Amino acid sequence: MKHAEIFQAWGRILTGRAPSMSIEITKECPLRCPGCYAYEDAHLGGGVTLRQLSDYKGDQLVKSVLDVVDHHKPLHVSLVGGDPLVRCRELEVLLPQLNERGIFVQVVTSAFRQIPAAWASLSRLNVVVSIDGLEAEHNERRKPATYERILKNIVGHRVVVHTTITGQTMRRDGYWEEFLQFWTPREEIKKVWISLFTPQRGAALAPEHLSIEERDRAIRDLYRLREKFPKLDMAKALIKEFARPPQSPDECVFAKTTLTLSADLRTKVEPCQLGGDPDCARCGCVASMGLAAVGNHALVPGLTAGMIFHASAKIGKMVAKLRTVGPAAAPSCAQEPDAPPVV
Ligand code: SF4
Ligand code: SF4
Repeated sequence: MKHAEIFQAWGRILTGRAPSMSIEITKECPLRCPGCYAYEDAHLGGGVTLRQLSDYKGDQLVKSVLDVVDHHKPLHVSLVGGDPLVRCRELEVLLPQLNERGIFVQVVTSAFRQIPAAWASLSRLNVVVSIDGLEAEHNERRKPATYERILKNIVGHRVVVHTTITGQTMRRDGYWEEFLQFWTPREEIKKVWISLFTPQRGAALAPEHLSIEERDRAIRDLYRLREKFPKLDMAKALIKEFARPPQSPDECVFAKTTLTLSADLRTKVEPCQLGGDPDCARCGCVASMGLAAVGNHALVPGLTAGMIFHASAKIGKMVAKLRTVGPAAAPSCAQEPDAPPVV
């Protein structure tokens, strides 16, 4: 994170706004990945599921997303799903407009279809391709977005590969080294980010879950692999955070700085984009660890960036309240924080 970006984000926090948004722009996905959190019954809190929400298409989707973004004014937006590439035609209109607004955008996709050539020239766009381990396992879990298809669909682009270490993959020696040997030499790969699997609290034991020993070994492997593969874009300070994840959403800088909306563009996904009731103490989300590393950075002895963040967030909460109840606020503004998009 650059200093200028940190100051901009801090400004948003002080005014009670989230500097980041994550938007599930569609409820549709052609894949059926085992362990996908988006389609879990509890993802949206247990009342309604992602598949039951009404979502947007065509011009209405473009306009509604822009309305939401203009309302919340984030610095960074992640477009997720479902798979955002299901709405490829809409993204071709939306992404240049977000780029023009100076917003950094991340499209997280399985790359099941070709990434449009024009996206390569958008300066503030990151395409993140989710890959589920080595080819045999990945193809089994994520068909039709097989290795062969991904390799074809990312030609002409520089994408970020994101993958998740699961229990199964830690039961085979050298698994992640082989993964990085396959992906990092390719010119289409800009960098690689690796998360650890995050279970829901109270979930029945599944093969994806990492034991304490497997998690410790995965952390040690990441320290070693980052030296060997420079495209593994994970600082030592970030990896260190996997060993001491936030104990609750309240301690999680990522959850507190990111507003996540589901496919109707009004339902909030809480406490973070995983939804449901994630086990923070076993969190393996690379984004959360990255921000935790920023938060634990000591500015001067005894004062971390996180302490300033938490104090600023409290001030921001008060400022947001004043915005909604203050004398200048017209009655309709009282609903501002949850204002639905104009449809
Ligand atoms: S591609 Fe993503 S949204 Fe679709 S099923 Fe797989 S994990 Fe879920
Ligand atoms: S990102 Fe991780 S630590 Fe933060 S709220 Fe979600 S599960 Fe908890």
